[in-house]
Amino acid sequence: MELIGHFINGTLNTQHARTQPVYNPSTGEQSKEVALATKATVEEAIAAAEAAFPEWRNTPVIKRARVMFKFKELLEKNAEKICQLIGEEHGKIMHDAAGELQRGIENVEYACSAPEFLKGEFSKNVGPSIDSWSEFQPLGVVAGITPFNFPAMVPLWMFPMAIVCGNTFILKPSERDPSSTLFIAQLMKEAGLPDGVLNVVNGDKEAVDTLLLDTRVQAVSFVGSTAIAEYIYKTATASGKRCQALGGAKNHAIVMPDADLDNVVSSLLGAAFGSSGERCMALSVAVAVGDEIADQMITKLSEAMSSLKYGPYLDKNNDFGPLITAQHKAKVVGYINSAEEQGANIVVDGRDAAPVGYENGFYVGATLIDQVTADMTSYKEEIFGPVLQVIRVSTMQEAMNLIDNHEYGNGTCIYTRDGEAARYFSDNIKVGMVGVNIPLPVPVAYHSFGGWKRSLFGDLYAYGPDGARFYTRRKTITQRWPSANVREGAQFSMPTLN
Ligand code: NAD
Repeated sequence: MELIGHFINGTLNTQHARTQPVYNPSTGEQSKEVALATKATVEEAIAAAEAAFPEWRNTPVIKRARVMFKFKELLEKNAEKICQLIGEEHGKIMHDAAGELQRGIENVEYACSAPEFLKGEFSKNVGPSIDSWSEFQPLGVVAGITPFNFPAMVPLWMFPMAIVCGNTFILKPSERDPSSTLFIAQLMKEAGLPDGVLNVVNGDKEAVDTLLLDTRVQAVSFVGSTAIAEYIYKTATASGKRCQALGGAKNHAIVMPDADLDNVVSSLLGAAFGSSGERCMALSVAVAVGDEIADQMITKLSEAMSSLKYGPYLDKNNDFGPLITAQHKAKVVGYINSAEEQGANIVVDGRDAAPVGYENGFYVGATLIDQVTADMTSYKEEIFGPVLQVIRVSTMQEAMNLIDNHEYGNGTCIYTRDGEAARYFSDNIKVGMVGVNIPLPVPVAYHSFGGWKRSLFGDLYAYGPDGARFYTRRKTITQRWPSANVREGAQFSMPTLN
């Protein structure tokens, strides 16, 4: 069986003390094994990144950007293979994998503009013959730890930006679907990146903890579940590192009585069930304002859901694929069971999903649950499956209070034709990314991505302008070249210009 290894100092190796199975979720069969890095292997990667840093830091930024141009070309040229690897190990349908990859490529495109965004700030004559400027220097060796649900896009949020800013990088992908990430990293070498600038270590907690505690690592970016994000943030910052840790979500859509219901239904289908709901921006709760719109929405949704198709990743006609593992499937089914036990109404039930010929795959069909209340476990926790829950409220303010009181604050959306209501909502809601008649308001690569509350630990959002700030350190230099015949006396008060 193929053993997926690491990419350290420009070379693949399969050093390990332990391994873990990698599955094809579409069939439920084990397809590969992944090597889990030991502390020593991670330290080897850190040493390679540290050795590569001085030269890479001093490489002119236009040359670093040219590697990104070439890398973008290679990603496009190899798109089919990358999507195939994503589909095989994650289970998402090829067209969805292509969308993920394209959103990742857009981050590489943004990284190509580094000569522009790293230009710094300059002020002439801040005092007599004194000039001052700020520049943005790389941090050194930085690390990224990524989740299973976007094995191409989330790594591409991180390392192109970090590397174009002059850092060297160690990536620890999800051990559940590591092949596409490992392949993409090797394309950076083909694009001309010197060995040691980008390293990939596969592994679990042992590898992550080594990255968090090693003093040579200056910063850590993390994307994953909230429990782990909080641990990563606390541990990394306690060891003196800069850290941004993006966590889980519970994204609500408010459906106002004046909303265009056909539009609501079609966009909820994609936003709730696309990628099997395994997206941190998946819309998993529809909050209907008034029973009338709730009843109409449930009727239309159940009708539309009967024609949804799910199955293996290779069949382009499928709307969504399986969940990532058998354990995760059991967890999602457990949440549906708990909603039923706690009094909710299962309107469309996906628990018995078993596509013909793929009965052992990790499938859950699209599920619709009505009469959900805020005290139910399925509402309080992130399900991360193809499950849409409906909560009924009487007013928009009640809907907003519900969202504001939830521990997560990643994304949200309002469906309405009322501009005033939409403006009030987007101005006041305590959530980091807001859509108005847009179900998945994922910011484009030249903005930045992040949630509020327990969906993000740290001060800066991921990628875009905030990404550039995260991976650089400002230095401000103030300079004067005194001429030989100008001498200043000692000055003891704070220098000012009067
Ligand atoms: P996860 O937290 O299980 O794993 C994420 C990473 O952390 C993996 O690389 C994993 O190896 C590592 N990890 C797991 N357990 C660890 C431990 N005990 N100690 C140290 N490291 C550990 O997340 P996942 O299941 O891979 O991804 C799904 C989660 O990610 C969901 O909660 C989803 O909302 C979230 N997510 C958030 C965003 C965002 O931008 N906010 C984006 C994508 C996914």
